[in-house]
Amino acid sequence: MYRFALLLLVCTVPCAARASDPEPVSAPLSAFPYTPGLDLHAMDPSADACVDFYQYSCGGWISNNPIPADQAGWSVYGKLQTDNQRFLWGILASLAQRSGQHNASQRLIGDYFAACMDEAAVEKRGAAPLRSYLALIDGMHSKRDLPAVLSELQLASGSDGLFFDFTADQDFADATQVIAFAAAGGLGLPDRDYYTRDDAKSVAVRAQYQAHVARMFALLGDPPASARRNAETVLGIELALAQASLTLVERRDPQNLFHKMDAQALQALTPGFDWSAYLRRAGIGGLDRFNVTEPKFFQALDQLWRDHSLADLKTYLRWQVAHAAAPYLSAGFVNANFEFFSNTLRGVPELPPRWKRCVRLVDRQLGEALGREFVQRAFSPDLKIKTLRMTQQIEQAMQQDLEQLSWMSSDTRRQALEKLHGITNKIGYPDKWRDYSSVRVRRDDFFGNVVRASLFESRRQLAKIGKPLDRDEWQMTPPTVNAYYDSQMNDINFPAGVLQPPLYDPAMDDAPNYGNTGGTIGHELTHAFDDEGRQFDARGNLRDWWTDTDAEQFNHRAQCVVDQYAQYTVVDDLRINSKLTEGEDIADLGGLVLAWMAWQAQIANSSPPPRDGFTPEQRFFIGYAQWACENIRPDEQRVQALTDPHSPGKYRVNGVMLNMPQFARAFSCRVDQPMAKQTPCRVW
Ligand SMILES: [Zn+2]
Repeated sequence: MYRFALLLLVCTVPCAARASDPEPVSAPLSAFPYTPGLDLHAMDPSADACVDFYQYSCGGWISNNPIPADQAGWSVYGKLQTDNQRFLWGILASLAQRSGQHNASQRLIGDYFAACMDEAAVEKRGAAPLRSYLALIDGMHSKRDLPAVLSELQLASGSDGLFFDFTADQDFADATQVIAFAAAGGLGLPDRDYYTRDDAKSVAVRAQYQAHVARMFALLGDPPASARRNAETVLGIELALAQASLTLVERRDPQNLFHKMDAQALQALTPGFDWSAYLRRAGIGGLDRFNVTEPKFFQALDQLWRDHSLADLKTYLRWQVAHAAAPYLSAGFVNANFEFFSNTLRGVPELPPRWKRCVRLVDRQLGEALGREFVQRAFSPDLKIKTLRMTQQIEQAMQQDLEQLSWMSSDTRRQALEKLHGITNKIGYPDKWRDYSSVRVRRDDFFGNVVRASLFESRRQLAKIGKPLDRDEWQMTPPTVNAYYDSQMNDINFPAGVLQPPLYDPAMDDAPNYGNTGGTIGHELTHAFDDEGRQFDARGNLRDWWTDTDAEQFNHRAQCVVDQYAQYTVVDDLRINSKLTEGEDIADLGGLVLAWMAWQAQIANSSPPPRDGFTPEQRFFIGYAQWACENIRPDEQRVQALTDPHSPGKYRVNGVMLNMPQFARAFSCRVDQPMAKQTPCRVW
């Protein structure tokens, strides 16, 4: 759904940036370094645009931007995200000073940051903050105690790693209603396939994971032999959970995730688990409407709870609780966590410095309070007006596109237009800021702050159940360098963080801006009509509004994209899983087609001159390509090949170019060259 998957980076212990880093990040930023929206230095003029347009547009960037030691990959987006973090670091460091005149919200994030940065205090407490949670687990006398204990642990950790996930979401059948969702969860590795694949690499990763789990038990004080035995128990339980979970591709179809039931039916699914005890402890007793996203998972879970001893279940819970807490404990836990999840799994050599982990954590837990400070300093009202205008132009282009489509019947077309007109544009930041005043933050209790902020968020989510939907809510914080479309809200969202140079550059001519930010807006808009988004209607309800013939036509066109991307290799022997990336690949192509149409309308009465030796048409495409410049570590590429719904940057550029005859014309490419195609794919 997102243009970029959210980066769930594992938190780690401090270290200085290496001298060999392309840009030392050891000091906060008070202003953003400027990179132009079309960067000639990022290009490789020795490459042939018609053979490898990605290399042509990004070759210079790729050579000049080695991956920093604390990152799994490096990209134009990642670099901008790091700039934002350094800017936020400066804000937080100043708000953390007790002497300043700060309002309550500023004091809250300042104190939180100060407590997080106080490494000596964190070190001194060691594993002590876990004690009460481990005692809670240890105190279970029978499996009948499981529901209440699980409820409490899930609320405090905010983790979906404790057997399953329980939260609130819009009813697929009635998007105005928020209901309870019970979803599959409980895994430590990034996806269920990590447990089920039997290639040599996957087998090796599992063995390394098991060693990591044993190491965590040892950190909790288990003797070596029982730590090893316990790790084996955990792997056995997680394997059973993985086998019962849907694959990422199966999860792309919302129909697979919609099973509404009442309390009695939920109880029948897991006869051994007392849901009323679970819900009571969560403070939401008496619920009678649930969406169980994967009923088979819950049946298997019930069986698993029956098959395993109470001691085994306790072992699993101890691991998951320690795992969720590891980033917020002393160095032993932080290092172990980093060494497996970042170093072994993703190839990251060094731990990110503490300031970076703390900035990310404030953004994750108190993000709108921090985002408010960011917006005040870094986002002008003028930029909001300009972005809104570009968004409206791209929506206009989509309307024109829908009206002209030859393959769609008038019935489906009418509903598609209704959906387009129903989309809400959210730009920069929320109209109403979240109120965190009930979160208690102490300067001497970092771990306690993390738990209290998690509890605040867990309860905030659960409190939505049965209430009218809040349409103003955002799923991303304002400094985020990313954007998204939400099928159920039917809205597109562009945080302030993504509307900066080099992505959107007010100092540039229109061409690269329409190629880059216009392409992003078009991308999110196209998600409303990709393989997943098209199943929801204008009001965000999961409802089939397509005639059979139109659906067939859509699938036929989408298959062209799926077949094309299936040819591309990510790393080694791993190809793109193009059923997983289908929606994103469709959105990349549709997005740039729409951006092109909007740009053509924008310059209809003018003829922009060439600049830097490039025609406006060439600048449009180079501007597009340069958002995607990246270097990714091979281990991270493997993780992405298995879990990321986005194709690698290279194919997000080249894969689109060969489907756009406008590109071949702009660079005079012949149809027998790699960046052109006899019969291009075209969905939207
Ligand atoms: Zn996307």
